[in-house]
Amino acid sequence: MSDKPKLAMYWAASCGGCEVSLLNLHEKLLEVEASFDFVFCPCLIDTKKSDIEAMPDKSIAITLFNGAIRTEENAEMAHLLRKKSQILIAFGSCASEGCVPGLANLYSKQAILKTVYLDNPTIDNPGNTVPVTSCDVPEGTLTLPAFFDRVQTLSQVTDVDYTIPGCPPESHQVWAVVVSVVNGTKLPQLGSVIGAGCLSVCDECPRVKEDKKITSFHRTWEIIPEPEKCLLEQGLICMGIATRDGCGAPCPQANMPCSGCYGPPEGVSDQGAKMVSALGSILDIGDSKGRSDEEIAARLESLLDAIPDYIGTFYMYSLPGSIIGGRVNK
Ligand code: SF4
Ligand code: SF4
Repeated sequence: MSDKPKLAMYWAASCGGCEVSLLNLHEKLLEVEASFDFVFCPCLIDTKKSDIEAMPDKSIAITLFNGAIRTEENAEMAHLLRKKSQILIAFGSCASEGCVPGLANLYSKQAILKTVYLDNPTIDNPGNTVPVTSCDVPEGTLTLPAFFDRVQTLSQVTDVDYTIPGCPPESHQVWAVVVSVVNGTKLPQLGSVIGAGCLSVCDECPRVKEDKKITSFHRTWEIIPEPEKCLLEQGLICMGIATRDGCGAPCPQANMPCSGCYGPPEGVSDQGAKMVSALGSILDIGDSKGRSDEEIAARLESLLDAIPDYIGTFYMYSLPGSIIGGRVNK
């Protein structure tokens, strides 16, 4: 192996979009290859866990760890790669905040296994078999990693040096990080979010913001939004106000509200709470003079009824990393 710095990428509980964002570097990947030795990336090269275990500690310059921690295997790899890496980066929304797999924190482990293996209409499971961590067969004992009770973020199980947000991270931002490492640019303070901005998506969205007063909400299929006006002002739930910038606001520019994949802006610890608080200050329930508390509550309720799924809307990417973390299962 050459003396180039070593690069690793690992895929825990995630969809694979983060790998695609790396592939989206296109021909620039050749420059990554010229600067680094790819030593571990299960979806690209056939390196085994034992190969990583055999490497000296801190011998990998950078590990891009994508995916949330759902199983014992995910946690084991997080600890192993932490030990072997100089810089461990939570790469993408699943690793940094839990993302869509983290919405499973609304259900218990038992409820998830029951839905998937017992109640699922497309599964033929006459023996009501659910996965177990150890199973004896004539050839010996088979084992599976344990399925944890909760989805956790990478930083909830080990120390993380940097976070690159996004579902997936935008390739131009991944490239900017690679260039600064290759050029030896001084990296920001440990613990920082890199490959993104510090403001909100609204700050880089070109749509015109005027009077943010919302009198009704719509689903995306119910209206054709005006092309230049702020989507939130048109009643579409756009999370731009509660989301970190850096992606270039591609969604609102394509007539789709931002769903929040870059996580909370700098200084905000709970993206969903930030969005709820922002909505609270711009909801227009009309003149409340002469109306009873019950009438005002009913008006508010009918407004909010148009939002179909509060947690799935406000915490689509951030539930495990948020203050609430998930539902308390008794
Ligand atoms: Fe753009 Fe959405 Fe912010 Fe409006 S709320 S300015 S559409 S990002
Ligand atoms: Fe993600 Fe929002 Fe940016 Fe779209 S606009 S890429 S949902 S942060």
